[in-house]
Amino acid sequence: MRVLLVEDDELLGDGLRTGLIQYGYAVDWLKDGLSADQALKTENFELVVLDLGLPKMSGITVLQNLRSRGQTMPVLILTARESIEDRVKGLDSGADDYLTKPFDLDELTARLRALQRRFSSRAEPLIQHDDITLDPAAHTVSLKGELVSVSRREFALLHKLLENAGRVLSREHLTQSLYGWGEDVDSNALEVHIHNLRKKFGQDFIHTIRGIGYMIDKSKDEK
Ligand code: CA
Repeated sequence: MRVLLVEDDELLGDGLRTGLIQYGYAVDWLKDGLSADQALKTENFELVVLDLGLPKMSGITVLQNLRSRGQTMPVLILTARESIEDRVKGLDSGADDYLTKPFDLDELTARLRALQRRFSSRAEPLIQHDDITLDPAAHTVSLKGELVSVSRREFALLHKLLENAGRVLSREHLTQSLYGWGEDVDSNALEVHIHNLRKKFGQDFIHTIRGIGYMIDKSKDEK
């Protein structure tokens, strides 16, 4: 899951970036509104965590531009505690949720999971797919009731494929959702993760769509 974090406070931004990475997100961190606006025009993000008080362009303008381009990904805004006006303006400008500073990382990630759920029209906190159960909150995966050990990236990749079961995801899209900018990515990194997931969940579990990417079939009770 690729997140754009926009926060000009060095300390808070650094803490959030580190924390979100530990929760399995691929995080790109920008420190001003203008570069966030540019990045949102050209890159694919699945979630945005947006501070409102930003240099060069306000968070509200970034948000308004984003929505006026028809981009629908969930946006959570960060506001100062005293500023009710900001929160209202943010929500009215297309934010899906807000947190007031200071806040707890656990609360932020719980809210992000809730936003992802709503965005993918999934009421259940657990993702069930035949014999596989993925718990985004606990960060665990089980097969036929037995926990399976997966790396952070394998978990993120599996999550992405399961949420999009029945749809082909391009290699580029998958790689982008696993890695942030500036991360060293081996050209065959994605294949290695796919290979490991197949070893753990069955060779036929993930289909290779030649020249395009990968997909998982819809779960049997959805067919
Ligand atoms: Ca700020």
